[in-house]
This record gives sequence, C-alpha cells and structure tokens, in this order.
Amino acid sequence: MTSGHRGSSGHRQGHHTPEAHGHEHGHRHVAEDMLSVEQAYQRIMACFSSLEAEDKPILEALGQVLAQEVRSPLDLPPLANSGMDGYAVRHDDIRGASDQQPRPLKVIGLVAAGQVSNQTVAPGTAIRIMTGAPVPPGADTVVPFEETDELHRRGEKQSLNSIGIKNDLPKGANIRPAGEDVRRGQPVLAPGTVIRPAEVGVLASLGMARVPVVRRPVVAVLSTGDELAPVGETLRPGTIYDSNSSSVAAAVLACGGIPKMLGIARDRLEDLHHRLAQSAGSDLVITSAGVSKGDYDIVKEVLTQRGDMNFWSVRMRPAKPLAFGLLRNENGGKPTPLLGLPGNPVSALVAFEMFARPAILTMLGRRHLARPVVEGVLTGPIYNTDGRRVYARVSVSRREGTYFATPTGPQGSNILTSMSLANGLAICPDNLPGLQAGQPVQIIMLDWNEEVNP
Ligand code: AMP
Ligand code: MG
Repeated sequence: MTSGHRGSSGHRQGHHTPEAHGHEHGHRHVAEDMLSVEQAYQRIMACFSSLEAEDKPILEALGQVLAQEVRSPLDLPPLANSGMDGYAVRHDDIRGASDQQPRPLKVIGLVAAGQVSNQTVAPGTAIRIMTGAPVPPGADTVVPFEETDELHRRGEKQSLNSIGIKNDLPKGANIRPAGEDVRRGQPVLAPGTVIRPAEVGVLASLGMARVPVVRRPVVAVLSTGDELAPVGETLRPGTIYDSNSSSVAAAVLACGGIPKMLGIARDRLEDLHHRLAQSAGSDLVITSAGVSKGDYDIVKEVLTQRGDMNFWSVRMRPAKPLAFGLLRNENGGKPTPLLGLPGNPVSALVAFEMFARPAILTMLGRRHLARPVVEGVLTGPIYNTDGRRVYARVSVSRREGTYFATPTGPQGSNILTSMSLANGLAICPDNLPGLQAGQPVQIIMLDWNEEVNP
C-alpha cells in the first residue's frame, strides 16, 4: 500500500531530485519533494481502493455503487399483458377487418390491471382489457379502443355486448410478452453500477427491497491554527472564522463521503495529538493548514510522530504545499491515510478537488473519477509567473455551441468568493507564461449551469 511513498521519516533529509526546491525562501524549512500534479495524484491514489459492501434499503443506496451483480428472480413482466386499453381477440377473427367492414365480436367479459381473467377468448369473442392486465387465454392480439367502433357508440350508455373491430392488426399487436424486459435468472445490473433513480426503479421492479452497495467512507475533517474561530462565535482581534472545516466537509458530502467533524486544533502538540486521536475509525483524515514552508512546524511534527508522512510541493497554483501519508493506528489496525491540505481556503478546495475527491470516489467504488473537461475560449487572461500549472477560477457559459471561460476575479488563494463565482477551473499548462483572452483553454467543469431559458 505504501509503495508510492517516500520513506517514513526520510522527508527531513529531503530528496534532492533536480527539481527539489526548499531553499528558495530564507526561513527555516523542511526539505520537500517537488512533484508534478500527476506524481502527487499517483502516490496518493496508490493508497486507496474500494471499501467493503453493506446492505441497504434501495432508496438509501442512491448514489452508491453496486457491490455485486444483480440477477433477476423473476420474468418482467411476469405475464403477457396488454400495452393498451382495448379488446383481447384472436387474430384469426379480425383478419381483413377494415373501417368499411368491421368484424363483429361478442364481448364476454372485462379484465382490469391486477386481475387475472378465468375466461377464455373463444372464436368470435373478445374480452375488454385494460393496460397492464394479463392477456386472457385464447387471445393473441389486443385491438385498442380507437380501432373499434366503440367510441361512436358511447351514446348507447350501456355496457357493450358486442364490438366491431375496424383494423386487421398484426398478430401479437399491443401484447407485451412475459419476460420482454427481463428474463428470470438474467443479469440485470453489473457490479460497479452507480445507483441512480433508474436503478432504484429496476431493483424495485425485481422486488428487491435491499441491495448490496459499497459503503460510504467516513472522512475526518480537522482544521489547524491558532487564528481560527469556530463559526457562530464572536471574532477576537487577529482571528478569522474557520471556513475550511465547513467547505471541506461540504466537499466530502458532495462527493458521497460522510464527514466527521474534528473541529479546530490549536498549534500545540497536545491539542493536535488529542484531535488526531479522534480520527480513529475513519477511512481518511483531511487536515488543513500548517503544511506550507513558512509554517511553524507543529503540525508537521505531530503528523510525523503519528505516521509515515510526506510533505510535498506540488507544481500547481493554487495549492502548492500538500502533505500525504499514513497515520499509524493506535490499536494496531490498518493505518489511515491522511491528506494535509494547504490552509488558504481556495487552495484547500482546489487540492481537495484534485486529490481528495478522486480518493473518496475510489473508496466509494466509483470507476469514473475525473470531472468532465471541455475545451473553451478564454475571455480574459490567466497569469503564470513561476512555471506551475495554474487552475484558474472561471465562470463557464455556452453561446452558440462554444464554451467561454471568464476568470471570476482576483485569483489569490485566499479569495474564496471568486471560487464561489466559478463553475470551472481553467488550466494554464506548466511552464507556459500564461494564456491570453481569445486563446483556447481546457476547463475542468466543477458543475454545469442550467441553460438560460430563451
Ligand atoms: P497556514 O498554512 O497555516 O500558514 O495557513 C495558510 C493561510 O490559510 C493562513 O492565512 C491561514 O489563516 C489560512 N487558514 C488556515 N486554516 C484556515 C481555515 N480553517 N479557514 C480559513 N482560513 C484558514
Ligand atoms: Mg497555520
């Protein structure tokens, strides 16, 4: 599992690959690996796989992934039934029928949906039948009301005991054969299928009240920093509200995980240890802040003490500093992956998007991990000063079949409102000095706006 990692405490010695930075700022630092987005992604993703199955009521399984193949215990429909309201007849009796020469048949009964007729359609007779009702024995064709003389005889105001068939329909018309949709024993849903409303319906149509799905991961969410105040409290001078706990937990929910809020850890050894201990039993721990170079080393120190941690610089903007590793389990169980997001609110969300979301989707058993990427045209510039890959917050709209990407304002990693205005991240490739208005650009779609009604 840990094969993708650098050595356990090796980060303090650093890995002096040609790309390793770490000395560019004057202050005290921990030597860090400089990784491409793809390298960081691969090392992280190597530690995740699909979680185990749980049995759930079908409605509660919405959005989860089927853990086993579902085979049908029955034929669907169970019996041949009528696709229309009309008359169940024998095709031999209506051969050659037309408007001019309707074929008269004796109406011997009625069968509604939910009933089974015990009458047989003998030659010269018909049974009135409703949509969904089983086709009575003897009948092989259903003639809809519209193709009989019933409608213009409605005035007679009495139950018809004879009917004129006005069309020679093909034999078998308007009959849905037993097993037409699904045959008993047939595989209906493959493992790995995401349960959407249609799948909930398919399961219900097979009579299945519960379904085995990959369980949702529990994701512990911890903010770190002395400057943070919990939302709802009054701010003291020098403090800011902890937005990362909320935004990260929301992002966990949005991709199908179950957030477990661990609150705010102060920049003190005991508090960090204490809070991290509360993460026991979760499938992933996501912390924010305390992992960048300028930081007071408390968070890194505690993480290093508690597990096999790596501190990286990822060649991306925002979200360069990133921590990833495995926390030792106190009870000797299997270690828990920990992803340390950068503290700036936009960096935290963008790093979540790039690394935490695919990890969570993998645990959920999902196979498609990437957001849709579209090519669009920039309406304003993206600046790139230091050769990193830039993920610019853009608002994407479609006009006459072309996607236009408009930067949503200041791109500082603390400007959370410009993230809120964005529905996509436009990519300026590594080592390009920037992109200008009018240039084509790849855009990761975070969500799709509704089309504006004409
Ligand atoms: P740090 O990596 O600890 O230096 O944090 C980087 C920046 O992110 C600082 O300006 C922090 O105040 C800010 N920050 C850290 N954690 C949070 C949080 N939970 N909510 C909002 N801002 C944060
Ligand atoms: Mg901090």
